[in-house]
Amino acid sequence: MAAMIVGVHPLAGFDKLLHYRVPETLRDSVAVGSLVRVPVLNALRLGLVGEIGPPRDFDVGKLKALAQVVYPFPALPPDLLELARWMAGYYACGLDSIIETMIPAAVRNGAGLKQEKLLAVTQRLTAEELAALTKRAPQQAKLYRFLEQQFRAQRKALVLARLGQTAAVAAALVKRGVLREEVRRIERIAYTDEHAHGELVAAQPHVLNAEQQAAVAAVTASLGAGKFGVSLLHGVTGSGKTEVYLRAIDTALKSGGGVVFLVPEVALTPQTVARLRSRLEAIAPGHRCVVWHSHLSEGERLDGWLALATGEARVVVGARSAVFAPVQNLRLIVVDEEHEPAYKQDETPRYHGRDVAVLRAKLTGAVCLLGSATPSLESFLNAQHGKYRLLQLLQRVDARKLPHIDIVDLRIEALKQRTLPLLSGKLVGAMQARFERREQTILFINRRGYSSSILCTKCGHIEECSHCSIAMTYHRTDEMLRCHLCGDQRPAPLRCPKCGAPDIRWRGLGTQRIEEAVRRVLPRARIERMDSDTMGKKNRFREVLAQFRAGKVDVLVGTQMIGKGLDFPNVTLVGLVDADMSMHVPDFRANERTFQLLVQVAGRAGRGDRAGEVVVQTFTPQAEAIQFSRHADYAGFAAAELKVRQDFRYPPYRHLIHHLFRGPNPEKLKFFAEQWAKLVEKTLGERVELRGPSASPIEKIKDEYRWQLWYFTNAVTKVVPELARLRAGFAWPDDLTQVLDVDPVNLV
Ligand code: ADP
Ligand code: ZN
Repeated sequence: MAAMIVGVHPLAGFDKLLHYRVPETLRDSVAVGSLVRVPVLNALRLGLVGEIGPPRDFDVGKLKALAQVVYPFPALPPDLLELARWMAGYYACGLDSIIETMIPAAVRNGAGLKQEKLLAVTQRLTAEELAALTKRAPQQAKLYRFLEQQFRAQRKALVLARLGQTAAVAAALVKRGVLREEVRRIERIAYTDEHAHGELVAAQPHVLNAEQQAAVAAVTASLGAGKFGVSLLHGVTGSGKTEVYLRAIDTALKSGGGVVFLVPEVALTPQTVARLRSRLEAIAPGHRCVVWHSHLSEGERLDGWLALATGEARVVVGARSAVFAPVQNLRLIVVDEEHEPAYKQDETPRYHGRDVAVLRAKLTGAVCLLGSATPSLESFLNAQHGKYRLLQLLQRVDARKLPHIDIVDLRIEALKQRTLPLLSGKLVGAMQARFERREQTILFINRRGYSSSILCTKCGHIEECSHCSIAMTYHRTDEMLRCHLCGDQRPAPLRCPKCGAPDIRWRGLGTQRIEEAVRRVLPRARIERMDSDTMGKKNRFREVLAQFRAGKVDVLVGTQMIGKGLDFPNVTLVGLVDADMSMHVPDFRANERTFQLLVQVAGRAGRGDRAGEVVVQTFTPQAEAIQFSRHADYAGFAAAELKVRQDFRYPPYRHLIHHLFRGPNPEKLKFFAEQWAKLVEKTLGERVELRGPSASPIEKIKDEYRWQLWYFTNAVTKVVPELARLRAGFAWPDDLTQVLDVDPVNLV
């Protein structure tokens, strides 16, 4: 029989394909997609089998042997391997980095793998053989005799410990074929904590309304067609999109298929997870629903992954990276809140979970269902062009009214209060009324500590980080200033470091300041704050939400992290304290973000039987994003905003690629960025339009300067490989690092 040869992609920084000979004993367990260990530069490394067959230009006789097959089934099914190759080209990164993203670390290094090794006798020795063995290798004979008397396979670790022997003794007998070693996996049932929280929400299916029925019928039809298709479910907040997802999942599972259900990480609260799990497990009795998020222990992640890879489980609910879950016979991918920027990974590989979901569905021939109350303009334009099918839920369930939105003009309020206002009279009055009626309020702040910087009212001095050119953030709890980019910190000064004036004011609206302002107007209310500062501790987020749900908190103050996917019937007032912030950042998506935020935030109010009220405070009440959001007029907003995007040829009309250069020497950075830009312009010509190079909005981070270059193009798949090729051949100085980001979502 001819030797079996495989091409392997070693991981950990080796972006190439190396060939190996497969030993006879491993032949049956190797396939394309197998995770293996191979010798590279005299060390064993993990790798992934990318192809079966000999190399073109290498003497097969000289090939080294493959050392180990980690799992007896492919770690990446063929569709994921194809997806990995496509992503490496599209996002200009090494295939190894994609494979490492697709296969969780816990799976790759088998850490926490709850398994035990067993030993058993396979071949009985004759009396003479045993005598010979006793003479030659008494330890081996002892082990053999012990095992020979056992009725079934024994746990290796226990046997060796009991006989005081080393693993080498067993290995010698295994090698001679006298003993066999087998691995038994111990199943670990994870996620019980979610049920223990006493938050289980009734998970009965609802009777669908007409719009939901139409949407479900459309998705069922495309699932029935058994081929690739994308549907965009645009449903106003509270229109019952989840019910549509669940019915679609039901259909996919009943036809024997597998399902990936993506939600933004912050939406993976115990409430949603518990609700989904109980519904999904009711749909497919006997099937486990795997949950996938960043708080899993290594062991839990490994178990979930194994359950999917072996087909024990067919459905996974998770954040971004769950798009790579090894679900078998994938039929449906649901992406909830598809507009969420959190789907984009902000480190290599810089992929967009929603876009990758669509592509995986395409490569597999599955259906992709994208849902949102405020679809991204990218997806909406695809629907307008007929590439996606548009499904709409324009009514809230039970014909509940969308909440009334009050816009408060902070400029007028500032004149009234004769100071920069935190809470307007309107908002305070509304909160007091809620408190008296024992109803609940949520106050949103646009971004954590966005401008809780320290500002001298005399000379205008702002304390900046000395390593990054951004303002330091003031933290009242420990009287410290911190840089949110590099983490540098120092005590907050009592006097202005520049002019010495004693009244340095805390500018802007950190969550802490709002919390304090609420305490002043509602001294008897129970107030909780929720932002990434206070939520650092693992279970705090869940605790606060549970208390809020139980009615033990009157006012919840937080950043938009509390805005996602939460459903609190007793919340009848939502205040957005600072609607302007996201419009004043230099990002062409600022309007879209503001609109999305306003609509999503407003959607948190009035989910129960009582009508909701929303108060939006702003210095720019005339802005389009604010005006359209008053009536949750998505279509109106999209039309106006798409027109602007088209005029400027911004995404979604063209793709955008960001190229960042960083290093310690600003002159050198500028020089090389300019040389590079010239080369690109000359080589790629018409296919890209360049902007820059220029200093980044944040010029310095952690003592490194930053320059950037933008490319606009209609042909990412042609331009990116070309950029990658040019980049590899360019003479970069050693102290310059550069990063390509295709389809970036945050421009500052
Ligand atoms: P969305 O995600 O569109 O904002 P949800 O899926 O969270 O809305 O649904 C809002 C609420 O309406 C949930 O409490 C859900 O259980 C309920 N619901 C969904 N469909 C129906 C229906 N057909 N009849 C009654 N209630 C429903
Ligand atoms: Zn800094």
